[in-house]
Amino acid sequence: MAKGRNYKEERHCVFCGRSESEVPLLLQGLDSAICSDCVKLCYDYVANLEKASSPAPDKISKLMKPKEIKEYLDQYVIGQDRAKKLLSVAVYNHYKRINNNLASSGADDLELEKSNILMVGPTGTGKTLMAKTIAKLLEVPFTIVDATVLTEAGYVGEDVESILSRLLQEADYNVRLAERGIVFIDEIDKIARKSDNPSITRDVSGEGVQQALLKLLEGSVVNVPPKGGRKHPEQEFVQVNTQNILFICGGAFEGIERSIAQRLNTQVIGYGSIHRQQVDKNNLLRYVSAQDLRSYGLIPEIIGRLPVVTYLDQLDKAALLRILTEPKNAIIRQYEKMFELDGLKLAIEPGVLDLIVDTAIENKLGARGLRAICERIMTDAMYEAPSSRKKTFDLTVEYARAHLAEAGDDASRQ
Ligand code: ADP
Repeated sequence: MAKGRNYKEERHCVFCGRSESEVPLLLQGLDSAICSDCVKLCYDYVANLEKASSPAPDKISKLMKPKEIKEYLDQYVIGQDRAKKLLSVAVYNHYKRINNNLASSGADDLELEKSNILMVGPTGTGKTLMAKTIAKLLEVPFTIVDATVLTEAGYVGEDVESILSRLLQEADYNVRLAERGIVFIDEIDKIARKSDNPSITRDVSGEGVQQALLKLLEGSVVNVPPKGGRKHPEQEFVQVNTQNILFICGGAFEGIERSIAQRLNTQVIGYGSIHRQQVDKNNLLRYVSAQDLRSYGLIPEIIGRLPVVTYLDQLDKAALLRILTEPKNAIIRQYEKMFELDGLKLAIEPGVLDLIVDTAIENKLGARGLRAICERIMTDAMYEAPSSRKKTFDLTVEYARAHLAEAGDDASRQ
């Protein structure tokens, strides 16, 4: 009974029922009160509701022409001209189709189909960089997923829907915004059908994952667990339509050259269409076709949903040198800026750049290895320079070589 009296005497939150002494703050209204915890909860709930239903602009306002897209890419991506051109056209067409409402059949019943993209090329040649740069340019949500973590529903790993959960997160849970985003699926070659690809050992049926991906690529309404994770029956789902999501897939397709060479050879004998001498044997990837992808283990339906296929060149020494210094956010430019912020000029002997690139090539790391090599050379300098009274830091070949060797890089110790 005493308890009941207390209940009446003490003020309570009408939402959670806790008493004034149990909550951080109780806000009194005319004839009831609410606690600060419940106010916060209600605020988040309303904000989320508004976000989910707020109309995202229907058009991509920043739709540039293919030439402008390519010029933008040129500022960040060295070489890979063919791929940049193809990507620029595909991306332009994709968003033009959305902006003009031709993603589903319009008044004249003409429906423009979307053109997802497949980039074939060795690792570290700029596939991810290109997709990322395009998304930044268009200011659309962008996410990268690794195909190797995806498994068929029911197996250990991630369901394909998790791709869309991530895109939703990137779009701050604005579904309409996410529905026009870009998804980069890396290592798509690793889910090739095992039987046709002896180099793959793991197989929670690559084909099963391909089938599941197909649903996303072709454009359908998918139930997505907004916070990711496995689907389970009690969970709330958000419906995401993938019709206008642009999928860019990338893969190294190691060994695919063999099938390309074989096919070209047969063509030479069979039809004489490509003369043997005309074939650029050092860059067979440029001839990659649907047929090669199929014999590598991609199912025909997936290939059909990736109509734009392009290749990336292996980066040679000249390209790697350019990557070090030319892009807008080139590694060397970043170091120069770091020193400048300490009032120092970074003077680099030209031979140092050669040394960095040669080391990257020897270590077979390509562009991916450049930063790590620079870090090994620069760590001591970055440690000492801010306390130095000098105005210039001279980065000589001798210094660079010594620091590489110190960091245990045998390759630099010639
Ligand atoms: P992948 O082809 O494996 O997706 P990435 O795009 O992730 O390779 O490249 C790794 C890193 O190497 C990039 O972040 C970038 O710094 C550098 N890089 C690779 N290729 C290029 C390129 N063509 N131009 C400029 N930088 C590049």
